[in-house]
Amino acid sequence: MKPNHENFQAVKDEWLKDCLQQLAITEETRASLKGFLSEFANGLEISLAGGDPGVLKPLLERWSGARTLSDLESSAGSLVQVLQQAHGVLLQTARRCLAADEALALMSRLQPSLLSANEYAIKLEIEAVTSHLTRELELSNQTLERLDRSKSDFIAIAAHELKTPLTLIEGYLSMLKERIEYTGMLDEFAILFDGMDHGSRRLKQIIEDMVDVSLIDNQLLSLNFQPMWLDRIFEGLKHEFEPALMERKQEFTIHPFPGSDELIYGDEERLYQAFRNLVTNAIKYTPDGGTISISGRSLPGFVDVLVQDTGIGILPENQVMIFEKFGRLGNTLLHTSSKTSFKGGGPGLGLPITKGIISAHGGAIWVESETCDEIRCPGTTFHVVLPVRKTPPDHLSAKLFEPLSGFERNRDNDTGF
Ligand code: ADP
Repeated sequence: MKPNHENFQAVKDEWLKDCLQQLAITEETRASLKGFLSEFANGLEISLAGGDPGVLKPLLERWSGARTLSDLESSAGSLVQVLQQAHGVLLQTARRCLAADEALALMSRLQPSLLSANEYAIKLEIEAVTSHLTRELELSNQTLERLDRSKSDFIAIAAHELKTPLTLIEGYLSMLKERIEYTGMLDEFAILFDGMDHGSRRLKQIIEDMVDVSLIDNQLLSLNFQPMWLDRIFEGLKHEFEPALMERKQEFTIHPFPGSDELIYGDEERLYQAFRNLVTNAIKYTPDGGTISISGRSLPGFVDVLVQDTGIGILPENQVMIFEKFGRLGNTLLHTSSKTSFKGGGPGLGLPITKGIISAHGGAIWVESETCDEIRCPGTTFHVVLPVRKTPPDHLSAKLFEPLSGFERNRDNDTGF
């Protein structure tokens, strides 16, 4: 029986020829594959002569590093595949060109080098794909961040630009009103003035929402912590929405719960705004004759307030998206600007503002609803979890709630922090 290195010499050229025939499809790949396989064969020869099979590593690294982005995406030119196929072809060629015992001896001697080359190729390939995917992910994150920033910038600029003409309209409107009052014809024009007043108030509200979203986005929302009671907020809302509830024939029930009548520290005005958004939505997305209720429970250190309705509900797949700005669902073209009419739309800023206010308090908000069904009306429950602060927040508690609120940056602007 001839020594292994002589047998390898004998099969080497045939093996390379067979490999090129079986593996290379185009002329271009044939040329690069030929170079790679000849170097690989030389490395195997060195390992046969008792040399270090590690000589194959730099070659595998070069081959792996030469794979282009589209190769990685399509898994074309996979190093592991080429090695495995070349291994198979070597086995066939050795069987064909050598005696059975010589082929067996040669393959057994080459096995450790072939296996370690294969293992190393797998490692390189995993690393290449992982770093490619990480890069892709970073790029998509950057694009998303850029998009979000442009949205934020747009809101801030639009709010600023709309404020000035609105102030002018309001000013001229009141001057016009005064003049007409002077002529004694105000009653005649009352309905027109009411319409204009209503329109400019609605516009002002939208601009204020845009300003709030922009403050929240830039973590500039400052809270004015004062002693307050949650049940006062709920009663205030019931009073404010009485006309709308009458018009929509809806019932609004407040169920007192442990903690709702306790004095806690919070920004009452902002919390009122947050709950007002939830109640407005509950009224809007509940058909006439439905029920809206506020209840809750006490948890250690927190209260969990539930704002429930018997309305159309929200599909589970939309329950995260609605908290994003402009995350309004449904057809934007079928949009009425009324605040409380059934499914009367809005700009989709209410829930992001509510979430921003609750988070700034160190709390959390989420929604529960089985599905969205306008016939069956499964209803929606919003949970608002708020920390029960018995003292105004100090630096210590500010630190404690910092990860939740991202509030530390603005500590100097806040009255409490
Ligand atoms: P909008 O200005 O559209 O009311 P919001 O941010 O307040 O914006 O709400 C976002 C979307 O969440 C709404 O367009 C609506 O589809 C859905 N939504 C919010 N509250 C409810 C609710 N109680 N019942 C059903 N859908 C709701």
